[in-house]
Amino acid sequence: MDTTTGLGLVDSLQLLHADRRGHVIGAEVVTNDSGGTREIINPATGAVICSVPEGSRQEVGRAVAAAKAAAPSWAALTPLERFVALAKVADAIDANAESLARLESLNTGKPVGVSRGEIPMAADTIRFMAGAARTAQTPAAGEYVDGHLSLVVREPLGVVAAIAPWNYPFLMAVWKLAPALAAGNTVVLKPSELTPLTALKLAEMVEDTLPPGVLNIVLGAGSTVGEALADDPDVALIALTGSVASGQAVTRASSSSLKRVHLELGGNAPAVVFEDADIDEVANTLRTMSFWNSGQECGAACRVLVHEDVQEALVERLIQLAGSLRVGDPDEGEQIEIGPLISEAHRDRVAGFVQRAVDSGATVALGGAAPVDRGFYYPATVITGVAQDSEIVQQEVFGPVVTVQTFRDEDDAVRLANDVPHGLSASVWTRDLARSIRVSRALQFGTVWVNSHLALAVEMPWGGFGISGHGRDVSTYSLDEYSRTKHVMMAST
Ligand code: NAD
Repeated sequence: MDTTTGLGLVDSLQLLHADRRGHVIGAEVVTNDSGGTREIINPATGAVICSVPEGSRQEVGRAVAAAKAAAPSWAALTPLERFVALAKVADAIDANAESLARLESLNTGKPVGVSRGEIPMAADTIRFMAGAARTAQTPAAGEYVDGHLSLVVREPLGVVAAIAPWNYPFLMAVWKLAPALAAGNTVVLKPSELTPLTALKLAEMVEDTLPPGVLNIVLGAGSTVGEALADDPDVALIALTGSVASGQAVTRASSSSLKRVHLELGGNAPAVVFEDADIDEVANTLRTMSFWNSGQECGAACRVLVHEDVQEALVERLIQLAGSLRVGDPDEGEQIEIGPLISEAHRDRVAGFVQRAVDSGATVALGGAAPVDRGFYYPATVITGVAQDSEIVQQEVFGPVVTVQTFRDEDDAVRLANDVPHGLSASVWTRDLARSIRVSRALQFGTVWVNSHLALAVEMPWGGFGISGHGRDVSTYSLDEYSRTKHVMMAST
């Protein structure tokens, strides 16, 4: 309940008018196609929020055609002209921040305070990309071969398809739209079929700012709409944030056209805690950064690796702090820190990981049982006594579940941290500067924090190694990936 308006979160659906709840294709919102509908569920209660049309290959074809038609004139704008348009998009996001945050919370179950933090990051990402695209870096033009002047031109790719996940529906969509549009591409966005509301609100907000066809949205499932985008020959790049299985599916579907593939996939982040770390600070950080967004966070510190001498102290403090997290329906008020998981199926998946760990001898030190209430909740859970080769250590649980393992020395710590197939992010906790440098170099992850976890900067690259994918989001590295270089060589004699 919002104390200023007296409106419950469920009333937030009013913020997205019924005639906007459809695919966005060119200048048109398609609310009544023939492909059936999908119910959008509030995970905090299990109740239906609304229904939206379910897309098919047909809507993909129309949206890609609209994006293709809009591409030449959007590409022909100068970086300054695109900057001016995109700055207006960022301003519109700021102006509608509360509506976006409330719609996001309604659709995902995350506390409104958490959603409120994500919206300014999205606006900032757009401003950064639009500005950075005005100062693209290339080697200096010059005569590298006798009598020939070489210069590198950066060009847009054409039509970019962006596929977003449900854990940060708005922010992850913007992480792809922003560099794609700033680099001069047009976009077809497929939000997660579970969480389309904020993408549709964005389309409404920018309809007078972006020319028709520059941003299109097709709603629907990954196996139909997502794969149709991946194999469409008119799509030049497909960018996916999602699970490893979806990354593999997109890669397969895109192989016939050999388009560029940009993958941001799962994580399974270790927090490596040495004996000289400030245990209180570590436990405090883990309380937030292991359980953020109900642990549905690809960078969450879900594998705590702690030196055997301080294991007892850390586990005791972590149980105390994580046990104080307030789990519940975000509609109950701002005191709620953790909402539900996204769906019943996902809650059951998380519960299954914990049950199988217990069945194979692990100990539940905190949490570990789903309440039999309405909504898809799971409590903050800490598990000890797990083997390195166990499923709960090797796979991404993607819920509010942390495993704790001990190590003897630095080599042992690095071995355990690296011995998983994911490689998205990790943290190392020590007061020893030389050790922090050695260990961060040895860790095989795309981001390594020292005495911190999950801090992000839009200027710095985010992306993984191994099965976590190979795309780089945010930073100018992502702008590079959404554009191509052309070498023009001019005979000067
Ligand atoms: P998901 O893979 O189930 O879905 C992500 C998107 O991919 C959805 O839009 C879905 O419809 C689509 N999709 C599914 N199958 C597809 C297919 N065969 N072809 C094309 N598209 C398909 O993932 P999710 O459950 O929405 O999100 C959770 C996953 O995303 C986790 O693994 C998480 O770690 C990962 N994630 C990664 C990052 C990152 O930056 N690396 C950020 C957020 C989430």
